[in-house]
Amino acid sequence: MKYISTRSKIDPINSADAILQGLSTDGGLFVPEEIPSVTLQEIKELIPMKYSERTATILQKFLTDYTDFELHECAELAYDPFDIPSKVPLAILIRDKDTEKSSTGVIELWHGPTSAFKDMALQILPRLMNLALKKVGETKNILILVATSGDTGKAALAGFADVPQTKIMVFYPDGGVSKIQRLQMVTQTGNNVNVTAVRGNFDDTQTGVKKIFGDEKIREELAKLNIKLSSANSINWGRLAPQIVYYFSSYVEMIKSKQIKLGDKLNVVVPTGNFGNILAAYYAKRMGLPIKNLICASNKNHILTDFFQTGIYNRNRFFYKTITPSMDILISSNLERLLYHETGGDINRVKNFMETLNATGKYKIDDDLKNNLDKIFYADFATEEETSETIKNIYDEFKYLVDTHTAVAISVAEKYRKKTNDYSPMLVASTASPFKFTTSVLNALGKSAENLDDFAQLDELGFLSRRRVPKNLDNLNRAKILHENVCDKEEMTEQVLKFVESQK
Ligand SMILES: *Cc1c(COP(=O)(O)O)cnc(C)c1O
Repeated sequence: MKYISTRSKIDPINSADAILQGLSTDGGLFVPEEIPSVTLQEIKELIPMKYSERTATILQKFLTDYTDFELHECAELAYDPFDIPSKVPLAILIRDKDTEKSSTGVIELWHGPTSAFKDMALQILPRLMNLALKKVGETKNILILVATSGDTGKAALAGFADVPQTKIMVFYPDGGVSKIQRLQMVTQTGNNVNVTAVRGNFDDTQTGVKKIFGDEKIREELAKLNIKLSSANSINWGRLAPQIVYYFSSYVEMIKSKQIKLGDKLNVVVPTGNFGNILAAYYAKRMGLPIKNLICASNKNHILTDFFQTGIYNRNRFFYKTITPSMDILISSNLERLLYHETGGDINRVKNFMETLNATGKYKIDDDLKNNLDKIFYADFATEEETSETIKNIYDEFKYLVDTHTAVAISVAEKYRKKTNDYSPMLVASTASPFKFTTSVLNALGKSAENLDDFAQLDELGFLSRRRVPKNLDNLNRAKILHENVCDKEEMTEQVLKFVESQK
């Protein structure tokens, strides 16, 4: 399997190269030349497997330049230590009271070391990268630059800390992440890590990082220091591919728990920001996993809802900071891959869309493309109030706590059912532990969080949900703050050079 760019004709490359480069030099994203297929028989064979075996089985189809042994080893090292007996469980199955027709499986994707779904990809990516360096004979050190809206940063730090031949630098928007998210990052240990806050929002931060990637001069400067830039953001193919696996895995879990039979179709609803997680579900569907509709759930910023409903992507709008900060995004980078596949690989059109977006802040897709998307996607959003109400309703009814991002998805799932009367079984991607967004969750439950510090809030949530506080969060108040760096968005390049110099 070879990889090509979404924006121009390049010589096809191996997955190891795509993973190391992150972004194509023409500004495009790497996509597989063709999308491999999986038969129902193959899906059936996943049933007795553990999660790491399912991972190796699916990844074999995409990462063909890795050996079977390598993929099994990477997957075992990544997922076997997760904090649950059966990896990536279906948390609850909600039976719709009125109809008895529908069931909803919530896939808890946050049992990794940082309690966010980003671990699903970022625990395996560093291992894939490390092997990739050996495969291509690269002797330079890799510098991973990350722009984070909260969860990616910590998950990437946890994945890359002290991995040989790599360094990692994380930029996050100052004041744009939750307190716990910030603490998780600024207490990160490791000799190869740096964490810097940027005065600006997530888009400023992401734009800054993209600029550095596109800056020939800084690349040369870094090359002199024996450093090569790479990314761990969700544009990296090595992050996207492992995310495809959990859709297969949870489908299989739905079979095991007798909610569906092999071959039955499911709807999948995903709380969406950068469009990585839901794109992984799209690949799973294209590969042959029986998925009916992909439901794209957005928050108050709902740029994707508008895009799917009108065919116009328009980022010229007010940017809201919401109680779902990991979805506060106006540029959904991975959408480019979808446009590529749904135009039948029309690189000129994709390039044109992206250049128009760059120049004017918006673009409009043609009717044929819009029609294609309508057949696959349904999009809606939840307001802040609806998000909070959903947390409370789900808790009252099932004594089950969801975080704000997951609540957006559940709220949109309910809207979808009401509007379409489609009561097919549903999978909801649960993207963060409720313990990562304690204040918003407590407020939603009508509990006053104001008088409680962050750790008292964790305890209160533990009490209410009758679940134990994840250890990695519980230990945070004893961890030492190691990173207090703050910079302006214009200073990011300078900060990178400073970090690299300090690493010599
Ligand atoms: C990153 C993130 C999302 C959005 O995922 P994308 O792949 O960017 O669409 C949703 N919820 C949480 C908690 C996240 O960390």
